[in-house]
Amino acid sequence: MKMLLMICDGMGDRAIPEFGNKTPLQKADTPNMDWLADKGMCGLMDAIAPGVIPGSDTAHLALLGYDPAEVYSGRGPFEAAGLDMELREGDVALRCNFATIQDGIITDRRAGRIKNPRALEECLDGMEIDGVKIIFKAAVEHRAVLILRGEGLSSSITDVDPHKPGSEPWVCKPVMPEGEKTAAVVNHFVKKSEKILGEHPLNKERENKGLLPANIVLPRGAGYMIPLTSLQDRYKITSSAIAGIGLVKGVCRLAGMDVPEVDGVTGGLDTNLDAKMNAVKDALKTHDFVLSNIKMPDIYGHDGDAAGKVNGIEKLDEALAPLKELIEEDVIIALTADHSTPVPVMNHSADPVPLLIAGKHVRRDEVVHFDEISVARGCIGRIKGMDLLPIMLDLANRSEKYGA
Ligand code: ZN
Ligand code: ZN
Repeated sequence: MKMLLMICDGMGDRAIPEFGNKTPLQKADTPNMDWLADKGMCGLMDAIAPGVIPGSDTAHLALLGYDPAEVYSGRGPFEAAGLDMELREGDVALRCNFATIQDGIITDRRAGRIKNPRALEECLDGMEIDGVKIIFKAAVEHRAVLILRGEGLSSSITDVDPHKPGSEPWVCKPVMPEGEKTAAVVNHFVKKSEKILGEHPLNKERENKGLLPANIVLPRGAGYMIPLTSLQDRYKITSSAIAGIGLVKGVCRLAGMDVPEVDGVTGGLDTNLDAKMNAVKDALKTHDFVLSNIKMPDIYGHDGDAAGKVNGIEKLDEALAPLKELIEEDVIIALTADHSTPVPVMNHSADPVPLLIAGKHVRRDEVVHFDEISVARGCIGRIKGMDLLPIMLDLANRSEKYGA
C-alpha cells in the first residue's frame, strides 16, 4: 500500500474576531478536505512538541521521522541541498542575501530585489580563504548559498545579516570557542565580497540605471552538515517529494527522497496546483511514499491577510479533489500542516495543527469537518510530528512487529 503526506504549509491559525472568532480554515468552504475527514480519523499534531515553534525545516524533518534535536544545526545545509549543491560531512553552509551597502551602512537587504545575480555568483565561487574552500551559488532573486569546506569548521557562529536595514553588517562571532576559525573565514569572505562586487561591471551598470547595486553578501543561518539516514535505509520505502520551495526540497533530498523539478511548481502564490497534483499522482505510481508541500497558506499568514488565507485555502481544497480517487486505490493519505502561521501573529506559532489520516480501512471517527477545532474530537488525539510516519507505515501494513 502506498502513502501520501500532503502538507499545507502554515495552514493552522487562531481565532479571528472578524470571522466570529473562527479560524481561516473554519471559515473556508472545504468540501474535499471535509470528505477526506469523513473517510478516516482526525486529531491534532505538534510538529515538534507542545509550545515549540517549528520552522518549516525542523517541522518537515520531524514529519519524516527525524529528531531535529539530533540532525539540525541550522538552515544553511537544507537551503544548499534545495539548490542541488553537493554537501559533504563537516561542511558548514549558510544562506545569504545580496544586499546594498552605502558608506558602511546596509541600505537594502535585498539589493533592490535583484533578479539575476548569476554573473555575481561567478566572481565569488571557487576562491580559498585560510585553506577553506568557498562554494557559492546564487538562488532566486537576491538569495544565495555559501558552503565552506575545510578542516575544523563549526556552525557555532552568529549571523552577518543585521536582519533589518539601517545598520552596519554584523561581525560574525563564534558562539562557542570551536567557531573561531569559521567566524574569521566568514568575516573575510564578507569583506572580499564587498571589494569584488563593488568593482563589478554589473553593479556599475545597475547604478547607471538608477538601480541599487548588489555590492555585499550577508550570510546567516549557519548549519553544519550532518548526514541523514535515508528513508530507504530506515523504513525500506522508496520516496519522492513534490515541492516548490528550496528549503523543503533540501530537507527531502537530504532524506534520500527523489525530488523532481516540476514545471509550473514555484512555491509561490503563482504555483500551478493542478501540475503539482498530477506530479503527485505520477510519483505515487513509482514510489511507496510521496510528500507534497503547498506553500500558499503560509504566505498569507506571514502577510497578515485573513481574507486571502480563506480564499487561498478554498483554492487549495479544489486542487485536492483528485485525492478522492486515491482512497479508492488504497492509498493511505495524511493531510496536515507543518505549523501554524496565524494571521494575527504574521509568523509561525506553536498552536497545534489539524491532522487527518484517511484510507479504505482506516478507522472512521465522527469528525466530518477538517479544521483546528473539529479535529480535536477525533480518535487520533494529539500526537507529535515524529509519530506520524510510523502511524502511516503501520496503516499501510509496512511496519514490523516489535517483539514476538
Ligand atoms: Zn512551513
Ligand atoms: Zn513560514
